[in-house]
Formats: sequence, C-alpha cells, structure tokens
Amino acid sequence: MSCLVKSNYSHQLSSTAMAMCSSFCPQIPNQLRARPICPFPTKPQFTLSVKAFSSETSNASSKDGMSARIGFLGLGIMGSPMAQNLIKAGCDVTVWNRTKIKCDPLISLGAKYKSSPQEVAASCDVTFAMLANPESALEVACGEHGAASGMSSGKGYVDVSTVDGATSKLISGRINATGASFLEAPVSGSKKPAEDGQLIFLTAGDKSLYELVAPLLDIMGKSRFYLGDVGNGAAMKLVVNMIMGSMMASFSEGLLLSEKVGLDPSVLVEVVSQGAISSPMYSTKGPSMIQSTYPTAFPLKHQQKDLRLALGLAESVSQPTPIAAAANELYKVAKSHGLSDQDFSAVIEALKAKLQNPPK
Ligand code: NAP
Repeated sequence: MSCLVKSNYSHQLSSTAMAMCSSFCPQIPNQLRARPICPFPTKPQFTLSVKAFSSETSNASSKDGMSARIGFLGLGIMGSPMAQNLIKAGCDVTVWNRTKIKCDPLISLGAKYKSSPQEVAASCDVTFAMLANPESALEVACGEHGAASGMSSGKGYVDVSTVDGATSKLISGRINATGASFLEAPVSGSKKPAEDGQLIFLTAGDKSLYELVAPLLDIMGKSRFYLGDVGNGAAMKLVVNMIMGSMMASFSEGLLLSEKVGLDPSVLVEVVSQGAISSPMYSTKGPSMIQSTYPTAFPLKHQQKDLRLALGLAESVSQPTPIAAAANELYKVAKSHGLSDQDFSAVIEALKAKLQNPPK
C-alpha cells in the first residue's frame, strides 16, 4: 500500500515521494497547501507517468490547465464541492446530475453540461462519479446512456462513491471492456472536508490511472492511499465507516445516559474531548445532538448502507462483528422513523424513549 499526502508544490508529486507508508500518514498544515493548476493537457495522454506532472508540467502555461477535460457525475453533498474545487483550480469540468437543477451553480462557475453520463464520458478524458449507493453507481456507469457507453481506449473512469467490492468489480469490468481504465477511489471525510479540499482518497485499481489523476485527487483531498486491486479501496472505506457508525451509536448512548443520571451532556462532550477517546466527530456533532438538531453532512441512510455493506464484507470472510451488527439495527430503527435524510448523528433519536416505545 502506498500513501501520499497533499504537498505544497506539485513537483513533490514525483514517484519517489510515493513512498510506502504504513499506518502513519502525516498531514500537511493548511498554510503550506497550494492549489496546483489542473494538470491535464489538451489531449488525453494516458501513457504519461506521474513524473509528467512534476515541476516541469506544473510550470506549463495555465492555458493547458484550463483546457483539461474532466467529467463529474453526481452532484450531491459530496460531489458538488468536489467538482467545484476542480473548477476553482482551473480545470475544464463537464457535469451531469440526475436532478439537473443541482448542475446550475456549477454551470454558473464555468462548468459545461451534458445531458447523460454517456455524453460526459464521451467528451472527457477522465470522468469522476460520486453516487449514492451501489445501485446508482451501477446505473450511472453501466445503465442505458451510462458512462461505459461513452468510454473508449485512452479514457479513465474514477468512481469515488462508497460501494461494495463486488459492485466496484462489476463497474471495473464494464469500463475495462471498452478499453478504458478504472480506478475506485472512495473518500474518507465529509461535507466540510469536501468543501475544503481535505478528503482522504482510498484508491485501488489501475495504477497508471491513479498516477495520472493524482494531481486532481490532490486538488480535492489532503492525502491518498493506493491499495492495490479493485475491491481493496471499497473494503477499506467500509471498515472505516463500520467503525464510525459504531462510534456514533456508542456516543449517542453515552450522551443520553449522562443526561438520565443528572449530568450535563455538554460537560461529557468536553471531558471526552480532552481524553484518549477524543475525536473531532464527537466535538463537532455533540453540541447539536444535545440540541436535538442534525444538520446533514453525512446522511443517515448512507451510514446505514455502509454498515449493511460492511456486515456483508465481514460475513464473506466469517469475521464476527457483533458491535457493528447492533449499531446497524439502531440506524435501521432511525430510518424507519423518517430520519434517513438527517445527519447520521440523528441515530441518537432511535435511543430516545419516544421511538423505543411509540404511543399506541
Ligand atoms: P447525496 O447528497 O445523497 O448525493 C447522492 C448523489 O447520487 C446525487 O447526485 C443523486 O442524484 C445521485 N443519485 C442517487 N440515486 C441515483 C440514481 N438512481 N441515478 C442517478 N443518480 C442518483 O450523497 P453524498 O453525501 O454526496 O454521498 C455520495 C456518496 O459518497 C455515497 O456513496 C456516500 O456514502 C459517500 N460519502 C458521503 C460522505 C458524506 O459525508 N456525505 C462522506 C464520504 C462518502 P440526485 O441529486 O438526482 O438525487
């Protein structure tokens, strides 16, 4: 596995910098970060090595950067800010979204628009997809007028949605059959990191495509891991979100228990923030959870989907995951009470008496 963190100069994106790193992946301080210009030349050149994006390329005229051709499919909570960051970096971006109105803010920032994934893929060198779930990722990639039908040799497809490995392999197979390259690259990080270009990419698949799109990933994210064969990025993402879902469920229990025994849950949040179990997630979400408000950054329905997929992954290798299974039940209860589109921190509602014992 290799990991690279965002660098302040694109010449640091050389292959030598892509040293193997294990669990430690240091982060670049914000003040040292700079926005590279979009690296794609006018014509797609998928034989370029990562070296081609070294200092020489980054010194190329901004006209080259401005004439890049990048597609972006799926403009939800995550896709919109990701595409926006590419546009702001000077990339030539073409967008599509099932609900067309979500394209409008990006079009007003300079994005082009095509009316199907097929047309986007046909007109772009590399196409990113950020879809809700396995079903929509498959539909957009492989359905009628899907991206695969616009793909051909020399193009690349990068799926940044969170799906299971089997889905990713299906999409990879369809894309590869056209002669194009495939990379799975689900992201860790939520709405704010997406807006700030601070996502963590968990990539797997075609190594050359990974190297080619690395400068684009660095516009949208702060670090990236290359994990080998297709399926490994999906698996890593599901393990991370399985842990996160259980953490949030446990935190919810703690908040409610503290209140029930007469403690101030705000003080609990403060105590937790100062100890070994501190997490930005608790500090960020805790105060609004105490107010019973759940402004959506990561929709609860997606967290439950990730737990479901993680449980499937665990079952495929006979790994017991009783904590995640219990957490999944809680998210299912929350969903059944209409909380699907709230933030996943709304799972706390599933533990409140009114949901546990609804009035008859
Ligand atoms: P979202 O706001 O719900 O957006 C989902 C996107 O998928 C929208 O563009 C939606 O189009 C599209 N879509 C859904 N069903 C479709 C279908 N049948 N055909 C075509 N398009 C369809 O979700 P999000 O928060 O951006 O998350 C996107 C992915 O990233 C998910 O896999 C999620 O698990 C993952 N993720 C999310 C976060 C986060 O914090 N939000 C963090 C990391 C990873 P419409 O606009 O037409 O509905």
